[in-house]
Amino acid sequence: MEAARNRDEQQKKRTISQSLALIKCPNCGNDTDFLEVADDVILTTHYRQNQDGSFTQEGDESQILGEIKLFCGECNADLSHFHSRFLEMLF
Ligand SMILES: [Zn+2]
Repeated sequence: MEAARNRDEQQKKRTISQSLALIKCPNCGNDTDFLEVADDVILTTHYRQNQDGSFTQEGDESQILGEIKLFCGECNADLSHFHSRFLEMLF
């Protein structure tokens, strides 16, 4: 009885640690700071001029034409192979 419960506990722990596996820089071990860098970006921002001469931002139609890369924020190692994981975990 006791053994069965322990097995359940262990199963649960394994599932949790799997879902919380962090992206970690293989070079320096950093798992907190990351940089996303996009190549060839066209920044287009739509503004509307108000009657008092001020401007209000209406929209942002920026386009990324190039590659998006992910780098370690500590040592700048290229972690682009983690990028799709990164996007899945981005909230
Ligand atoms: Zn690093």
